[in-house]
Amino acid sequence: MEKFRELGVSEEMLKGIADLGFETPSPVQEKAIPVILGEENDLVVLAQTGTGKTAAFGLPLLQKIEPEWNNVQVLILSPTRELCVQIGNDLRNYSKYRKDIRVTCVYGGTDIRRQIKDLQRGVHVVVATPGRLVDLLNRKAINIESVFAVVLDEADEMLNMGFQEDLDFILSNTPKEKNTYLFSATMPKEVERIARNYLVNQKEISVGKKNQGADTVSHQYYMVRAKDCYETLRRIVDCAPSMYAIIFTRTKNDAQDIAKHLQRDGIDCDALHGDLSQAQRDNVMNAFRAKRLKVLVATDVAARGLDVDNLTHVINYNLPEDVESYTHRSGRTGRAGKEGISIAIIHSKEKGKLRRIENMLKKQFEYKSVPGGEEICRAQLAFYGDKILASEEYEDMDLYAQEVYDKFAGLTKEEVLRHLVSYEFGRLLKKYKNTDDLNIEDDDRGGRSERGDRGGRDRDRRGRGGDTVYSTFTLNVGREDGLTPKDLMSLINKYSRRRGIGVGGIRIFDTDTKFEIDEDSASDFAVDFSKVLFNGIPLEIKAIPTRDRGRRRDDRGKGDFSGRRERRSSDRNDSRDRGGRRDDRNGNSGGKRRGRPGSDPKKPRNFNRSSSRS
Ligand code: AMP
Repeated sequence: MEKFRELGVSEEMLKGIADLGFETPSPVQEKAIPVILGEENDLVVLAQTGTGKTAAFGLPLLQKIEPEWNNVQVLILSPTRELCVQIGNDLRNYSKYRKDIRVTCVYGGTDIRRQIKDLQRGVHVVVATPGRLVDLLNRKAINIESVFAVVLDEADEMLNMGFQEDLDFILSNTPKEKNTYLFSATMPKEVERIARNYLVNQKEISVGKKNQGADTVSHQYYMVRAKDCYETLRRIVDCAPSMYAIIFTRTKNDAQDIAKHLQRDGIDCDALHGDLSQAQRDNVMNAFRAKRLKVLVATDVAARGLDVDNLTHVINYNLPEDVESYTHRSGRTGRAGKEGISIAIIHSKEKGKLRRIENMLKKQFEYKSVPGGEEICRAQLAFYGDKILASEEYEDMDLYAQEVYDKFAGLTKEEVLRHLVSYEFGRLLKKYKNTDDLNIEDDDRGGRSERGDRGGRDRDRRGRGGDTVYSTFTLNVGREDGLTPKDLMSLINKYSRRRGIGVGGIRIFDTDTKFEIDEDSASDFAVDFSKVLFNGIPLEIKAIPTRDRGRRRDDRGKGDFSGRRERRSSDRNDSRDRGGRRDDRNGNSGGKRRGRPGSDPKKPRNFNRSSSRS
């Protein structure tokens, strides 16, 4: 508190902010409070939301109010209703021990008559959205000719939202001899123009650099095909069980659509977009603030001024149209000194835009690889385990304990746990069994992420020691033959000498497949596949000679398991006849399939998903 006192904050205000838990001033408060309190300077403050800027202007301006004058002395303009209400509440909290100061908020979407009545009672501070204030001025329901201070909060957002003319009109109704304080997260040309036209003798304070995000935000990107964006999003969300996030989309249709899909996938979420009525918007926001929703899917416009603390993530489902919007989006996390993650899901054509954002932020995005099923399941199980360990025992547990013990008496502790986890997570574990690899390698960034694993099953090699050496094999059937990773796993397990063969990456191409077996398991694997049929095709497995595999071991970033799904028709004779049948390896076309040379095609074992070992 002493530091706030040294800045000149009054005893009543100190008590107000102490109740809010403020102890030391944030950098923007340290810089702005003395200027606003002491000097007759206008001020441009470059600061993100979440840096404590409300108190930076709120505390000194409240202190300067002369309550015996029954007129509007401070005008604060903010882009949205939510932000207005938030600022109003903050100011009332700061001035809790100054009952003589009256603060009111006026914004669109609610009954104007009630707001007019409030104004008629006499207020000292008005927090307003520009549109509603213009309306009130036109009705002569408010007089702002005696304000000594105007704050333009989130000026860049107000201009983005097309309030330029309204601002001009409002400012022309204020006296010349006043101070104007402009707060903005970014400094586009239009904001510079406002500053030039309306501010005099201004000082500039910057927290962080122009258009740069907060230092507490780390930026990450995932690169996938456009069709895989939703699946990627769902995996990211599922892999972070304690996520509390806003997902940004470009259009309201996207917002609705994604929210619907996430709900269907069992994730607590809702959409916020321009088509909602004010009451619906309030409902969604209240649910999100109360953390009944884990994620909110929003358009940029709908999320403007939305003020929620403690977001762990911001996810850019699409990159915004203009690079500056990225600063706004990502600035919603990493607030008040907390760490946050801003994620972009992009496809390869958007790399240029990503680089432009990096140039603006002066920060690099970290390439991440889309989590695979095992990683997600591990994250969920760990979270579940932590929750169980952290839970308090129900006080009357003794009443029921014996019955519970009796119920499970025949099971070991391990068995009970296995049942419990299967019961809770069966659906999730099933959903994420044998997931595809969705990643597209970013060659500019050395491709691989921290996991170093791009294999089809997304096995987390680090978790298994990180230095497993794999042998690579090819199989003569692929996606067009109906092969899925699950089928391949079943084949491997069924026709090897033992179960639990260590499988690495799986790449299923159109007409053939490459996969890895860890070298410790290799001798137990692939006893004889020549008599096994998959959907009528005799299987042929070949080991890729070691010298060809060297590249894989030495340079995991550029090997065949890169995550690209290529059509590799050049590898083979791949013509198909009209009936969809493929020529065999010996160049014989026609309906009858032949086994590989040397195999006995007369008595093949037929493998399909329901078949059993013959
Ligand atoms: P703002 O940028 O004004 O929206 O503030 C972001 C969050 O930081 C709000 O929850 C404030 O209550 C909190 N905050 C602002 N200043 C301080 C401070 N000096 N100490 C602790 N919390 C603060």
